[in-house]
Amino acid sequence: MKPRELSLAELARVGFLSRRRHGNFVDGREVEPADGAYLPVVDPATEMVIAEAPDSSAGDVARAVTSAQRAFEGAAWSGLRPADRERLLVRLSMLIEEHTDELSALETLQSGKLNALARAIDVGSGAEFVRYMAGWATKLEGQTLQPSIGVPPGARYFTYTQREPVGVVGAIVPWNFPLAIALWKVAPALAAGCTVVLKPSEETPLTALRLAELVIEAGFPAGVLNVVCGRGVGAGAALAQHAGLGKISFTGSTPVGRAIGHAAVERMTRFTLELGGKSPLIVLPDADVEQVAQGAAMGIFFHQGQVCTASSRVLVHRSLLQRVCDGLARVAAGMRIGSGFDPQAQLGPLVSKRHFDRVMGYIEGAKADGATLLTGGARALEGGCFVQPTVFADVRADMPVVREEVFGPVAVVMPFDDVDEAVRLANDTPYGLSASVWSRDLSAVHRIVPRLKAGTVWVNTHNMLDNNLPFGGVKGSGMGRDLGRTAVESCTELKSVCMAV
Ligand code: NAD
Repeated sequence: MKPRELSLAELARVGFLSRRRHGNFVDGREVEPADGAYLPVVDPATEMVIAEAPDSSAGDVARAVTSAQRAFEGAAWSGLRPADRERLLVRLSMLIEEHTDELSALETLQSGKLNALARAIDVGSGAEFVRYMAGWATKLEGQTLQPSIGVPPGARYFTYTQREPVGVVGAIVPWNFPLAIALWKVAPALAAGCTVVLKPSEETPLTALRLAELVIEAGFPAGVLNVVCGRGVGAGAALAQHAGLGKISFTGSTPVGRAIGHAAVERMTRFTLELGGKSPLIVLPDADVEQVAQGAAMGIFFHQGQVCTASSRVLVHRSLLQRVCDGLARVAAGMRIGSGFDPQAQLGPLVSKRHFDRVMGYIEGAKADGATLLTGGARALEGGCFVQPTVFADVRADMPVVREEVFGPVAVVMPFDDVDEAVRLANDTPYGLSASVWSRDLSAVHRIVPRLKAGTVWVNTHNMLDNNLPFGGVKGSGMGRDLGRTAVESCTELKSVCMAV
């Protein structure tokens, strides 16, 4: 989809929203952080400060949780019928779509992402997901079950299960799809009848704050969605450790996810963790090489590789190795790099200078370790956090660029000689988020899919998510699932009722 130019009025509005100092959003209104501390929000294409948002403290988090608890218990929210929650969510989805220009421009400003991507995914799919979840509000169900309780003799029982909202959901989200992933957490929680405290990434708080305003505009009661901004070690840790949560839902890196899981178990808070990945893209010997080259480029360079499912390890049958290397390098070298507002750009900047330095560190490390650079490997453009799409071959399994999540536009290509070796290489990672298989041989595909330790396996495509398809990882990629029916059910407790009749 080609984005249209923003009008002057729209730009002015974005300018207004993005330049001022923001507060948190608690109990239906903007609230200054108690300590008066703020963090800059930086446009990574220009490295200019575009706004300031709170660097919140544990006190700010506690205030937001109290607001969410009050809203959860209050009649204005708990007294609503499921159909009322459905209507509110549908209204919210429409409002998000009506604000596509503004929300997508904010997303591009704060994260650098291509505006077309922000429109299609953060706003477009995000709004559709809210509508999808609206439908689940009226469809949560339990079961009646046949009991066999034999005491006292002759007694009869009626047993059933019902789903009840867990209470306040704490949501901590990353910077790569700020609005979309926030909605992955917020929409199922609201559909289930929970209330939410959302902590966006300190790099990208602006769309979460705007979402909170739209939630009020849609007619939700105050306190149903609260947004507390700040750093992970401050506001994030305080939220993860707060005793008032019924559930914590986290998307981010594996080490932080592990710490959040520990904190949750300590309080027996329910949790879901969507974590990092090092996803293999497996090319079987019969695959269409041109399709693979395009698909592998999309798999790793889409959103500059800042995607948890990015196809960072391209595993190719040795018979196709040279052709796949040539094809992938050719597609990479031809990609246009530019600002997220450049409608021709295929790659934008990385999210921050800090992340740019980290990605460049992996690239320099791979060169020093003796990997062969097929294309890229350097900064792109003058100024801004732009990195060339980069492909390495002749890598060893123990190199950091092979083992660790780079979260940038960097792929490694590795050969295999048979399917057993492909499976071994694919699973030789602490992660297990996703994998893709490229082949026209249906039997070969069906035989390899069950052997891949991954939450999602794609065939002849990569990175495709659907609101109705559960999404999450195994091993170090996390626990639980976002999206689909399972996402709304994970915001509920299953209560069993046994009645003597
Ligand atoms: P991150 O783990 O550094 O931060 C994610 C969020 O956690 C941010 O809001 C951050 O402020 C907060 N945080 C950081 N330290 C914390 C702490 N000690 N306690 C509580 N909260 C804390 O991740 P990131 O750099 O923002 O995002 C990139 C990571 O996210 C990658 O590893 C990527 O794979 C992962 N990710 C996973 C998925 C998925 O669905 N599996 C989707 C997108 C991104």
